[in-house]
Amino acid sequence: MLNEALRIAGEKIGAGREPAINVHNPYTGTLVGRVPKATLEEVKLAYETARACKPTLSRFERAAILQRAAALVRERVEAIAALITSESGLCLKDTRYEAGRVADVLMFGANECLRDDAQTFACDITPHGRKRRVHTLREPLLGVITAITPFNHPMNQVAHKVVPAVATNNRVVLKPSEKVPLSALAFADLLYEAGLPPAMLQVITGDPREIADEMITNPAVELVTFTGGVAIGKHIAARSGYRRLVLELGGNDPIIVMEDADLDEASSLAVQGSYKNSGQRCTAVKRMLVHEAVRQRFTDLVVDKTRAWRHGDPAHPDTEMGTVIDEAAARQFEARVDEALAQGARLLAGHRREGAFFAPTVIDRVDPAMTVVREETFGPVSPIIGFSNIDEAIRISNGTAYGLSSAVCTNRLDYINRFVAELQVGTVNVREVPGYRLELTPFGGLKDSGLGCKEGVQEAMKLYTHLKTYSLPWT
Ligand code: NAD
Repeated sequence: MLNEALRIAGEKIGAGREPAINVHNPYTGTLVGRVPKATLEEVKLAYETARACKPTLSRFERAAILQRAAALVRERVEAIAALITSESGLCLKDTRYEAGRVADVLMFGANECLRDDAQTFACDITPHGRKRRVHTLREPLLGVITAITPFNHPMNQVAHKVVPAVATNNRVVLKPSEKVPLSALAFADLLYEAGLPPAMLQVITGDPREIADEMITNPAVELVTFTGGVAIGKHIAARSGYRRLVLELGGNDPIIVMEDADLDEASSLAVQGSYKNSGQRCTAVKRMLVHEAVRQRFTDLVVDKTRAWRHGDPAHPDTEMGTVIDEAAARQFEARVDEALAQGARLLAGHRREGAFFAPTVIDRVDPAMTVVREETFGPVSPIIGFSNIDEAIRISNGTAYGLSSAVCTNRLDYINRFVAELQVGTVNVREVPGYRLELTPFGGLKDSGLGCKEGVQEAMKLYTHLKTYSLPWT
């Protein structure tokens, strides 16, 4: 199965072409593949090709391509999961789940492009009205879409950028993370196999220091959609000028556990939210805020469930957590936990590093000012912070630069109403992990987590289109 997955990616990766980027398995260190390092001239050519392409696929044709691709993903879940695991170190349980999500994105894209959200307005509804009607229609962008994706969901992040573009007859030039380019290339291959004209989606692999600026400033680009860290997101915002911009940036999501919560449920949500995908989700639980009245019992449960979380070889079918993306990332988590411990936090589980592997780690007596919780710690670390009442919980939760999502464990409607109204985030999930959503539903953050534009297939399709109005002289 793995060989099949590598073959899918391998055929496109320009074997023997130099210069190239080597992709290594973060767990074994072995070479998984090589992808071309695109030159500036090649990037410019990609935009010329995209600009010259004027897609004319009908809604039916676009839906058929996306449905076929969804079926191919479902048929090849095992091979896709093996490919993602081999280049990211994520465990097979996580990457099978990711492949299922990719199929969902494709299915929702197929469904949505069959829907027409055109509106019509009668104009004789005011004293100075006329016997006319205003109608709306959606058109693809005039220019090209640049999509830039991060490493943590190597195929699903790509699907979320590309599928809404296919569904709206747009052209995309995509640059996946240089850490995990093979999954993006495999996804593009699936779409070509399903019938997508190649000029509608071109994948560029390369060194961002050499090619990213061109991808943001090329005159053919009308929209830049970026998912990744805050620093690069803000750099793109400053550099991109008069263009549409979609930024999905970092997160620092809390799970807030009130005194009435079901602690078994809350602790399960907390550890799942913290360790799934090796803690590398923008919506991972990064802070556990717990009411003092239940703090000790909740902490004991979190520690027990952390110790039981099976971590190790990502390719073993029983493993629940593999490595993080690379050794540098694992060293950063180690250093942040060391710093917190030196400042008075207490270690309760984990904090062992070997190469790119960092064990699920619980610390308590954490102060909100410590780097481990003030900054986004993009790995399997569970810092526990106590609070005395809902005002304090809301204040701590809102006290970071981020505002992506949140989880709230309580059954009290008065609490729920306050959290929904007062948490400065894009999503409040009651008795669910912060990351819960459908691939269809609106998703995105505030503050440093994003500009407020939403992704999710339906909202992204709106962002990727112009709403034109025309009026006719009849009622
Ligand atoms: P990153 O910001 O380091 O890289 C993201 C992408 O930007 C990569 O493709 C990289 O090659 C590219 N890039 C690098 N330099 C660039 C430049 N100068 N101009 C343009 N592009 C450039 O992020 P990462 O480490 O790959 O991913 C982790 C981050 O992504 C975390 O902060 C995480 O929270 C965030 N993220 C956010 C969401 C969301 O939806 N809000 C989802 C997933 C991940």
